[in-house]
Amino acid sequence: MRIVVVGGGIVGCSCAYYLAERGADVTVCERSTIGAGSTERSAGGIRAQFSTPVNVALSRASMRVWERFEDEFGTDIAYRRPGYLFLARNEATAEGFADTVAMQNGQEVPSELLTPAEASEHCPGLRTEPFHAATYSPTDGFADPHLALQGFATRAREMGVDIRTGVEVTDVLLNDGAVFGVETTDGEIDADFVVNAAGPWAKRVADMAKIDLPVVPERRQIAVVEPETPVPESVPLTIDLDTGSYFRPEREGATLVGGHFDSVSRAEPDAYDRTTDLDWTVEAVERASETATYFGPESRIKRGWAGLYAVTPDHHPIIEETSPGFINAVGFSGHGFQHAPATGNLVTELVFDGEASLVDISGLDSERFEDGRTVSERNVA
Ligand SMILES: Cc1cc2nc3c(=O)[nH]c(=O)nc-3n(C[C@H](O)[C@H](O)[C@H](O)COP(=O)(O)OP(=O)(O)OC[C@H]3O[C@@H](n4cnc5c(N)ncnc54)[C@H](O)[C@@H]3O)c2cc1C
Repeated sequence: MRIVVVGGGIVGCSCAYYLAERGADVTVCERSTIGAGSTERSAGGIRAQFSTPVNVALSRASMRVWERFEDEFGTDIAYRRPGYLFLARNEATAEGFADTVAMQNGQEVPSELLTPAEASEHCPGLRTEPFHAATYSPTDGFADPHLALQGFATRAREMGVDIRTGVEVTDVLLNDGAVFGVETTDGEIDADFVVNAAGPWAKRVADMAKIDLPVVPERRQIAVVEPETPVPESVPLTIDLDTGSYFRPEREGATLVGGHFDSVSRAEPDAYDRTTDLDWTVEAVERASETATYFGPESRIKRGWAGLYAVTPDHHPIIEETSPGFINAVGFSGHGFQHAPATGNLVTELVFDGEASLVDISGLDSERFEDGRTVSERNVA
């Protein structure tokens, strides 16, 4: 089975690894360098506290891989699990928490519903007054996206995957609608399957296969801050769900602060500003200071960066064989790093078994947007 994977981010490299493990002859075409897209601009969050069953299932399947990643891939990915703490400022948001936790518990996620006072046991600097309720899960956490990507890419190469950097796929070759290869800046490559793992460029690559996908690149920013009062490393990623503002401790006194506060953020993936806006940074730190006491006026902004989410209308990915031989693994919004292990396995099942079984992805097809079968994820930043 000859397979061309378009894109050398975490999704493409995970697909390549699992496909090679089942015996496929895999070529990854990466127009730039490995990880040059969204992957190395990710915050590395890995959590099971999602609000839809399919996202929880993708997390559960992926977390099983993250947990034994060092044993399987021989790479320490700095995986640590201080948990995630979701906070509800609005009563309506708080009312939804009980059902979400019950759904998560039904999939063996050890999340729990907390009062703001109980939440402050996990985040001692939490301002409890603005919030009505919280949810917390101790198995949520983070890993280093760069190390994880190198882990997948290195093992994929060892299994014979040909990872070609500086090679752009310029067209998908079709015969009566069925894939038979790709055209690249380095010549044609024959293929029985082409996997679109092009992240924010996914719509362009799908267009080459005459498929119209609603995947839009949106810019998101992160600031690295030295808070006036250091945030203990045991503090979970703490997110005010109603404003989208979040922070989480990094190492050596630094804290990542993020959130998305503008309604419009569409970006052009080849030409967007990769640095943070000063106005946004000030607002992000101010909002964090409304959540917790760490961010006093002496807080210092150290650096920051911007990257792209590849967003679908319902914040869920598209994972399907959309036309014969053309598989889309795209539109992961802010969750593509953590869901990459499950996605690589699912794409491998689609290629070898003709259907996916690891997770029920029947709702992650591309036709749902026309049929109105979308399910919105509420737990997003
Ligand atoms: C600020 C920020 C924070 C985030 N935080 C998190 C988080 O905490 N947890 C989480 O799970 N996710 C997070 N994400 C999302 C995550 O980064 C992405 O979902 C994930 O990296 C997507 O991986 P990918 O492999 O699909 O795409 P990418 O990493 O973008 O890889 C796609 C690759 O395709 C290549 N490419 C494109 N077109 C072509 C072509 N025609 N030919 C050849 N190559 C091509 C690109 O060069 C690129 O390297 C965050 C994203 C941002 C921006």
